[in-house]
Amino acid sequence: MEILKHAEKRTYGAIVIGSGIAGGWAAKEFCDKGIKTLVLERGRKVTHNEDYPTTLMSPWEFEHRGRLTNEEIAANPIVSKCYAFKEDAKHFMVKDAEHPYVQDKPFDWIRGYQVGGKSLLWARQTQRWSQFDFDGPARDGFATPWPINYKDIDPWYAYVENFAGISGNKDGLDSLPDGDFLPPYELTCVEKHFQKEVKRMYQDRHVIVARCAHLSEPREIHYQQGRGRCMSRNLCQRGCPYGGYFSSNASTLPWAAKTGNMTLRPDSIVESVIYDEKKGKAIGVRVIDAHTNEMVEYYAKVIFVTAAALNTNAILLNSKSDRFPEGLGNDSGVLGKYVAFHNYRASLSAEFEGYLDTKSEGSRPTSGYIPRFRNLYKQETNFLRGYAAGMSAGRGTHSDREAVGESLKNSLLNPKLNNNWYAGSHMMGETIPKETNKITLDPTKKDAHGLPLMHMDVSYDDNDDKMVKDFIEQFTEMYTKAGFTNIRTRDSKQAPGLDIHEMGGVRMGADPKTSMLNKWNQMHAVKNVFVTDGACMTSTSTQNPSLTYMALTARAVDYAVKEMKKGNL
Ligand SMILES: Cc1cc2nc3c(=O)[nH]c(=O)nc-3n(C[C@H](O)[C@H](O)[C@H](O)COP(=O)(O)OP(=O)(O)OC[C@H]3O[C@@H](n4cnc5c(N)ncnc54)[C@H](O)[C@@H]3O)c2cc1C
Ligand code: SF4
Repeated sequence: MEILKHAEKRTYGAIVIGSGIAGGWAAKEFCDKGIKTLVLERGRKVTHNEDYPTTLMSPWEFEHRGRLTNEEIAANPIVSKCYAFKEDAKHFMVKDAEHPYVQDKPFDWIRGYQVGGKSLLWARQTQRWSQFDFDGPARDGFATPWPINYKDIDPWYAYVENFAGISGNKDGLDSLPDGDFLPPYELTCVEKHFQKEVKRMYQDRHVIVARCAHLSEPREIHYQQGRGRCMSRNLCQRGCPYGGYFSSNASTLPWAAKTGNMTLRPDSIVESVIYDEKKGKAIGVRVIDAHTNEMVEYYAKVIFVTAAALNTNAILLNSKSDRFPEGLGNDSGVLGKYVAFHNYRASLSAEFEGYLDTKSEGSRPTSGYIPRFRNLYKQETNFLRGYAAGMSAGRGTHSDREAVGESLKNSLLNPKLNNNWYAGSHMMGETIPKETNKITLDPTKKDAHGLPLMHMDVSYDDNDDKMVKDFIEQFTEMYTKAGFTNIRTRDSKQAPGLDIHEMGGVRMGADPKTSMLNKWNQMHAVKNVFVTDGACMTSTSTQNPSLTYMALTARAVDYAVKEMKKGNL
């Protein structure tokens, strides 16, 4: 009786695993719909504004002028490769020694384990997918066909864009559908020059301002969230005091809390999902306390696994039962396989010798964007799919920061204008999900909490190499024709992972024999379990993925709640 009473106290309408971008949205949507929701987060509590220790610090207040020490770099060979791992934001990122994993092949796994997950750190680039992306696997014969089309997700993009606040221009491009945008940021004059020249020389290529999750002009719905206008400080990774950019901490989680329906439990590591064979469904989750390693169970009618793509895979692989000895819902055997990511290896830098009577001043939280143009309407190159690219150009100033004392002060007070404008682009390529790109759990090695270590067996292939070559050739040509000089290109040959857009392993598909989730992100074999983070992605497109996770999550919660009300879950 006593046990039952306690079990009742630990029973909710919905459990959401993880409080990052996908989990935050699941929490908001369930709570708005009146469902008592438990959000389980393995990391510590981070409350908007209260827990942003560096957000108002001035450059001179940082002990190492914002940089990492040699000791920190040596101790963190993986995470220190990420541009965001600097003195001002390192407290939001997982250090290498804290949560080890096994690299069967090199894989740079960048993580944020805290309330809000990586939503505090992300670069806020938010481009919609187009029908070309959903058509990809079926048209080009890889992975498995998507069970949804653009029209299925279009209204949900609009729904999340309105709440999150996405700044952008309506560009009218087939490859990048327009959305419900706040006013766009401006391109610099050299970016506009590039835009004009590219338009003049190529009918199929476009330079636009990148869409981003910033409140360029807040609407009433944003003020209701307690958020204000983005002041273009460009210090977002510290947490924004104005709530100028979208994060779970500033937006979805406080909104969910206000409904009175959310219970948020930080320091709660989900070990596995509990499957009840008699009931034929999942009944709850096992949770390890991050401090004491004590195990406790929580129960719910519906479970959303949104722990970030690879962690979601790990939780499901670890959820073994007699019915599912290879991981929850894994009748097809595809769980953990067809992991994919984005190819960010190539970049280009250049100079522009004109516009010397102008300079760029102040900051802007976004840059230019060149949507995918390769193989869009038909296959035309020796590789499948294509790449989008970032583009930015600025004319800065420089001062001698190595000086000391009086000369440092003078140098900082009298910066010199750079001779030319600098410009650059980086590629964002689609990779092809393959069965051989997979993650598995170690049969014996465990972490400090007793969870099996993850093995990463993921690599680039010949298609990716050809795409890098094409990007370098095409962008060299575009910049040359547009009058840029001193063009330098680079293939960083970085390992997968550093793009921080890992996807797949729990893919969607119409056929339960070849996929884990149906068109509602619902497990084919366990109807009350849903996956809406990157793990669900059947293919990767070239667009930054998080906006799509938001839309899929809101859509899946809407479906789940309707099914709950019908008594189907
Ligand atoms: C520097 C940087 C720049 C980026 N730029 C962009 C960009 O411009 N555009 C874009 O679309 N994306 C970008 N991303 C990627 C983006 O952050 C992720 O796609 C997004 O955060 C994924 O959302 P998520 O909810 O799946 O995962 P997360 O936001 O990582 O949240 C997952 C949460 O689950 C928790 N968790 C994990 N395991 C467990 C467990 N077992 N039990 C309980 N909780 C658990 C984690 O602690 C975490 O809080 C960027 C990321 C980084 C780091
Ligand atoms: S750029 Fe905008 S969102 Fe980012 S920290 Fe500055 S004000 Fe905040």
